[in-house]
Amino acid sequence: MSQNEAPAALSPAQIDDLRQRALAAATKAYAPYSGFRVGAAVLLDDDTVTTGCNVENASFRLTTCAEQSAIAAAVALQGSTARLRAVMIVNLNHTASPPCGGCRQTILEFGSPRTEVFFPATDDSEIRSTITDLLPHAFLLEGR
Ligand SMILES: [Zn+2]
Repeated sequence: MSQNEAPAALSPAQIDDLRQRALAAATKAYAPYSGFRVGAAVLLDDDTVTTGCNVENASFRLTTCAEQSAIAAAVALQGSTARLRAVMIVNLNHTASPPCGGCRQTILEFGSPRTEVFFPATDDSEIRSTITDLLPHAFLLEGR
């Protein structure tokens, strides 16, 4: 697929598969401090899916977000060529969990402006957006 070619739209089955994988990952979350258990599943351009969960630490600033761990797994698998087509974020707490600012920047680093992001809203519905809508005016280094 060339850079200008839009990927085929995600099917409902693909979206549900991502949601189920993210929920499975959320059950593995290490969240003894907050109790906030988050899972993420990322769909790569070649249809590979990797997952991640949040991993807390007693030194709170060392906590890793689910999205970050799923993307790290993608990079560990495919190296710098890993490209995100979609990111699914869920939690087991029935509360809103949009990606934090740092995760938005990481999603953009390995995504494209069209990368889709799904996350729970406050009313338990699911919001579907693009990383460009979530992170306008993103930081980008020249030459990348
Ligand atoms: Zn985050």
